[in-house]
Amino acid sequence: MTVAVALAGSTGSIGRQTLEVIDASNGRYRVVSLAAASNEEVLREQIARYRPDVVAVIDSAVRSRLGRDFPSVEFSDDVADVVHPADVVVNAVVGFAGLPVTLETLRQGKRLALANKESLIAAGPIVQPLRNTEGAMIVPVDSEHCALHQCLRSSDHVGREVASLQLTASGGPFRGRTRDDLSRVDVNQALAHPTWSMGPKITVDSSTLMNKGLEVIEAHELFGVGYDRIEVVVHPQSVIHSMVTFTDGATIAQLSMPDMRLPIAYAIAWPDRFDVPFGAVDWASMRTLEFEVPDRETFRCLDLAYAAGRTGGSAPAWLSAANEIAVEAFLAGRISWLQIADVNDATLQRHDGGTLSSVDDVLAADERARQIARGIVQSFAQAAGTVGA
Ligand code: NDP
Ligand code: MG
Repeated sequence: MTVAVALAGSTGSIGRQTLEVIDASNGRYRVVSLAAASNEEVLREQIARYRPDVVAVIDSAVRSRLGRDFPSVEFSDDVADVVHPADVVVNAVVGFAGLPVTLETLRQGKRLALANKESLIAAGPIVQPLRNTEGAMIVPVDSEHCALHQCLRSSDHVGREVASLQLTASGGPFRGRTRDDLSRVDVNQALAHPTWSMGPKITVDSSTLMNKGLEVIEAHELFGVGYDRIEVVVHPQSVIHSMVTFTDGATIAQLSMPDMRLPIAYAIAWPDRFDVPFGAVDWASMRTLEFEVPDRETFRCLDLAYAAGRTGGSAPAWLSAANEIAVEAFLAGRISWLQIADVNDATLQRHDGGTLSSVDDVLAADERARQIARGIVQSFAQAAGTVGA
């Protein structure tokens, strides 16, 4: 039987690799819908090649040009419209913009192959009850959580047998650097990730360890494990993708070379295993796997995420929103790399203690945090003379 796949964020790093996985599947999967923001050239090629039924495009000029050229395709301005024709939905949108896809997939009782961690982090209290919709399920694409998902399959009593989770982190391009070194790093240095090739936002997040911090919250939301039992281990080779330690002392890990096609294939093939290997380890050449503790003083975003996670309510939404603004400002040359953590910290300090009981609450929390973060960016940029940059 052919499985119908929706792919939101098709033009990005995860989106393109999802299509490579589908290409390798010998027709087992069919792409029924695509979504992107504005990358006309790549989207046009994808529509011509995969002939989806539905395409959501945010940019209206791009949407109307593509609509004219592909009259048999149903075009939409709502990214959540990718969900209805699909059996499984890959959410590979970057940032908070992925929220409608996460919510709609679970509401319609479908399987969500989730790369877009920001939606789960910002809207955890709203997403949790939707996971109880009949047929709904989240299978993580994020490599660490996909690894945890695999490790947890070794226990029939996850609730009482898990002692702790170990999330691994490559350490990013600035591992081992001091705060002083990092006061002068530029965008190109932050974008030079040692082991993974990814979109710009998550690559910057990896350089600050905010990605790992967000992943701590993601792990808490996905697996219900308390923050005191989620640990971060720096592992520069990115071969162990994460580990679970059980109450009897056994640690189970998942290993493969850094290749996102493996977790993508896992999430779309679940509960089966994909029949084409991606990133299998060559044990004849594998030599050394190293581990370090993270430098929490230099990479302050990690503990900001633990703090926001422990506060709960809308605090993770505030942190994630502030971070999107801070990363955007860093990429635009308006603030320095060290100031990313400062913007996140200063925004969280103004958190209003709000809770989340509806999607509207999530949207309001996101908007409020962005407003505050923009103000902080503006004051930093004014002080540095980079206001117009
Ligand atoms: P990219 O920046 O490479 O791609 C982002 C995608 O989202 C593009 O297709 C973009 O379209 C689309 N998009 C942006 N805004 C919107 C919007 N408002 N509505 C609809 N689509 C939109 O990101 P990545 O692929 O790197 O990351 C995607 C997600 O996966 C992130 O949440 C990231 O944290 C997560 N992830 C990524 C990993 C990786 O290896 N890349 C690893 C683990 C997790 P357009 O091209 O038109 O702008
Ligand atoms: Mg990850």
